[in-house]
Amino acid sequence: MDNTAKIPSYLSRDRLGPWETYLVQIDRVEPHLDRDLLPWVETLTRPKRALIVDVPIRLDNGEIAHFEGYRVQHNLSRGPGKGGIRFHPEVTLSEVMALSAWMTIKNAVVNVPYGGAKGGIRVDPKKLSREELERLTRRYASEINILIGPEKDIPAPDINTNEQVMAWFMDTYSVNQGKTTTGVVTGKPVALGGSLGRHDATGRGVFVATVEAARRLGISIDGARVAVQGFGNVGEAAARLFADAGARVVAIQDETGSIRNGHGLDVRQVRQHRQEAGTLAGAPAAEVIGNDDFWAVDADILVAAALENQITEKNAPRIKARIVVEGANGPTTPAADLILQERGVLVIPDVLANAGGVTVSYFEWVQDISAYFWSEEEINARLDKIMGDAFAAVWNAAQAKGLLLRTAAFVLACERVLMARKLRGLYP
Ligand code: NAD
Repeated sequence: MDNTAKIPSYLSRDRLGPWETYLVQIDRVEPHLDRDLLPWVETLTRPKRALIVDVPIRLDNGEIAHFEGYRVQHNLSRGPGKGGIRFHPEVTLSEVMALSAWMTIKNAVVNVPYGGAKGGIRVDPKKLSREELERLTRRYASEINILIGPEKDIPAPDINTNEQVMAWFMDTYSVNQGKTTTGVVTGKPVALGGSLGRHDATGRGVFVATVEAARRLGISIDGARVAVQGFGNVGEAAARLFADAGARVVAIQDETGSIRNGHGLDVRQVRQHRQEAGTLAGAPAAEVIGNDDFWAVDADILVAAALENQITEKNAPRIKARIVVEGANGPTTPAADLILQERGVLVIPDVLANAGGVTVSYFEWVQDISAYFWSEEEINARLDKIMGDAFAAVWNAAQAKGLLLRTAAFVLACERVLMARKLRGLYP
């Protein structure tokens, strides 16, 4: 479809970047949407607001440096904006726009009452000292202060931002407001209004979504063989939960290499070895294999929890798993997606599979606003319920309309957003 008319003048048409990918996704979903909602569909192709800010800071050597910062609110029809803040030298407006739109979709898939937003600074944080990073965070927080707030837009961590960055962010906002406002960001330290259960939340959501899929395909988790790419926050937690449920984690890959044990690796021992040795190789009872061979390992379930564009035309034909779970954002290229579809592999899409993180962020916000904190058991039970309900809704929509889970998740989310938009009506 020709998207020229939908491209805003502030993006470079010959270098559209991730925003173009998102526009193509909306084009593909449009024919499956409820016809009554079609008059509103263009809403999805235009971010509601995009703020570009200059972030000047004084460096440790006394010089002044300027960085480009963004905050984009893609859609606020269903509630305040929600989405992370990324510090990376290649952040662009197009990327932040696309990420904010994908947050609109993800929040609607799990039906948490948020719109979609995202922010970023074009900076290599590894080149800054801790003090410079703090000044950068605080100045950025004040520059986007006009858009954010617990009832307006609630940032969270993303690439290269963490609990400490969120703590500085919350402090800056609070100082400017003249009152402690913990609910302005999520992903904070537990000592500062963060939530129990947040650390494992995304991995737990990955696990729950897979359990739901396996049950429908008649695969038992007890004894299932699981391969996991990425052994960080998402991959390690997912691997641990699979092992605790009786599955055999037969292969793990991270940036340092790949290991295998057909009888099942001991995930906690692998984690300890990885922490101490800095590499997967040498973990107890683990055979080192080539990174290419990881993809062809005999497994029933493959969890992709590392980076984008990992499952490609090259390795997709060799994957033996019956279920591929996208713990990472965008791990499967569109060409690989087609190959997996033709081979009958079920792909649980990122906007569903990794939504456990934003779901517990939602719980953090609710706890901060009500100033009443839940136990980890309550948080896990509520997370399991939301993930289970979201999976069922996507699965049923896919069955009813004969769609892939990815398309069904987008259709469900877009219809939720557009229904809210339609009911609110157009002002004036
Ligand atoms: P992380 O930094 O904790 O872990 C990333 C893992 O990927 C590490 O084990 C690293 O070694 C591995 N890795 C990096 N490059 C690799 C390569 N070339 N080959 C194989 N492995 C490689 O990050 P994370 O928080 O676990 O996030 C992983 C993915 O999940 C990202 O796409 C992220 O956007 C997505 N995600 C994370 C969350 C969350 O709550 N953390 C929520 C939603 C989505």
